[in-house]
Amino acid sequence: MAQLTHKVWMGRALTQAKLALTHGDVPVGAVVVRGGEIVSEAHNRRELDTDPTAHAEILAVRAAAAALGSWRLDGCTLYVTLEPCTMCAGALVLARLPELVYGASDPKAGAVGSLYDLAREPRLNHRVAVTAGVLAEDCGAVLTTFFRAARARSRVPGAVGTLPPATGGVA
Ligand SMILES: [Zn+2]
Repeated sequence: MAQLTHKVWMGRALTQAKLALTHGDVPVGAVVVRGGEIVSEAHNRRELDTDPTAHAEILAVRAAAAALGSWRLDGCTLYVTLEPCTMCAGALVLARLPELVYGASDPKAGAVGSLYDLAREPRLNHRVAVTAGVLAEDCGAVLTTFFRAARARSRVPGAVGTLPPATGGVA
């Protein structure tokens, strides 16, 4: 039952991820849920806002705190399509988030099991319960498609700039 619920909310996060594509941002989406209801949802806006901190999780956490009128996200679960980076994992600890569910792992920048495990770091004053790999293939596929298209564009003569690697590289 929990797994089915996780998949439903992750599907919602995936819908958010795809919205990032409309402005050329890396497709990562996040949803904060409490008591079976959406508190906030957001997608990566780093390019759109020219803001290195405008990751989906940060935007969703800020919006959730504003909606709840509390910096503590008691009783909330954050669903995100990609394993959080160091910044976002840190923010989840600061928000005292009880539960995180993520989709695809990020071997290049992930801070919830891949490179680091900040969500379950025993020296910090809060630990987040983590479920990984929910709709991982779907979550990873939107990223793979995005980076493949970006690389193809970069091979066009006259194209400017360098591009991130095929997987991860979001943070
Ligand atoms: Zn992040």
